[in-house]
Amino acid sequence: MYKCIRCARPLEKSFGTAEIECECGSRVFIKERQNIEKTIIAR
Ligand SMILES: [Zn+2]
Repeated sequence: MYKCIRCARPLEKSFGTAEIECECGSRVFIKERQNIEKTIIAR
């Protein structure tokens, strides 16, 4: 699942890594996973 880094709008489309663009015009997205909290806490 991808999340827009600008407007934080989740993208639930199943696209490739090429040519993805949010409605706000941003092309930068964060790859979000279910256990993302574990990933952040990991040290
Ligand atoms: Zn956006």
